[in-house]
Amino acid sequence: MTQELVILGGNFAGFVGAKTVLDKINPKLGQRAFHVTLISASTHAYFNVGAPRLLVEPDKIDSTLFSIEKAFAKYPKSQFTFIQGTVTNVDTTSQSISYQKPNQTVATASYDSLIIATGARTENVSYKLVGSHEETVDAVKTLNNAVKAAKTIAIGGGGPTGVETAGELSSTYPSKKVTLYTGASRPLEHLGKLGGPAEKKLVNLGVKVINNVKVLSASATADGKTTLKLSDGSESVVDLYIPVVGVRANTEFLDSSFLDKSGFVVTDDNLRVKGLKHVYALGDVISGTAKTVIDLDKAQKQVIEATLLNEHVSSSNKLIPHPHPKEITAAVPISKNGGVGVVNGWGLPSFLVKFAKAKDYMIPKAPGLFGIA
Ligand SMILES: Cc1cc2nc3c(=O)[nH]c(=O)nc-3n(C[C@H](O)[C@H](O)[C@H](O)COP(=O)(O)OP(=O)(O)OC[C@H]3O[C@@H](n4cnc5c(N)ncnc54)[C@H](O)[C@@H]3O)c2cc1C
Repeated sequence: MTQELVILGGNFAGFVGAKTVLDKINPKLGQRAFHVTLISASTHAYFNVGAPRLLVEPDKIDSTLFSIEKAFAKYPKSQFTFIQGTVTNVDTTSQSISYQKPNQTVATASYDSLIIATGARTENVSYKLVGSHEETVDAVKTLNNAVKAAKTIAIGGGGPTGVETAGELSSTYPSKKVTLYTGASRPLEHLGKLGGPAEKKLVNLGVKVINNVKVLSASATADGKTTLKLSDGSESVVDLYIPVVGVRANTEFLDSSFLDKSGFVVTDDNLRVKGLKHVYALGDVISGTAKTVIDLDKAQKQVIEATLLNEHVSSSNKLIPHPHPKEITAAVPISKNGGVGVVNGWGLPSFLVKFAKAKDYMIPKAPGLFGIA
């Protein structure tokens, strides 16, 4: 008899979960094959890796959005169903999910197995899916117009996205005053040696890099500007403030006993949600993982396949624990002409960062990365 497997969230991790079940697990299950229902707030997946480039080239947005229905069109209805809805509750005792449809009515779905892949959101709504993809498109266009109108722009957050954002703005609009508050001793503090070269490149582009100062709050002034309160006690008034500090887990629908202090889902090394049977998590929503597409693609994909094979096909299939690589891999563009990067601890020269990512932010490769090329 068919079993029902529900996947919550339809971006990178939801795609990995659905394709793993449909392509790798179901062919081995015969009559017991899963019917997969994917529930997501947006009808489209979003290649948000390219979001910093969309800030200055918003017309590329169409190349970053992918219809979920189309991506799974090859699977018959007996195997796959997509539902647009925002999940509001998961009852792990009755194995039932409540979700709100776009017309605001509430519906429910039952599951035998569940994959939670609802990711995490950013304060800057153009950098992640926060609702429908139309809301993301609007956010990208609104931010682009605000950038064009601004003479002074402050960016809060010195991680890869903050550095990429500063690089895009300063190289595209050299006359605008761009300030980056890293809130750390240097940009890219967690990427080891990359911080120094990154800061140098930003300064060469005209970015004012301010280290060891955080943006504590931002409030609108009567004349449409933004006042920033800074951790050194000072204030700054800018035309536009772009926050790029951290992410928040999309897990409000789940009982807090399954979450860590920051709201991320606690799993074991095999991506099984601790304390629940046949409930798994994938992607950014998991506690303590790298929160990158690289980790999802190079590590979690193999782990979840092994776990599902072990639990649903045969326990003779070996479990693979999630590897947590000691060496970092990252490519951080700073303008179209290059950037800084590291692969398994080895530094990448700027020209390789240019060809790997900076020239087009990998947007032409997006269909392949979603497995729909
Ligand atoms: C600007 C930016 C640039 C990045 N660049 C890189 C990069 O170069 N390389 C890299 O490896 N990583 C990069 N990342 C990280 C990468 O974006 C994440 O690792 C990736 O998005 C995680 O995918 P996900 O599917 O787990 O979650 P998400 O992308 O957050 O997707 C979550 C999905 O769940 C849906 N959802 C959320 N809540 C609900 C709900 N209640 N009900 C129903 N559906 C819901 C959302 O609509 C969405 O479809 C970047 C991140 C940002 C912000």
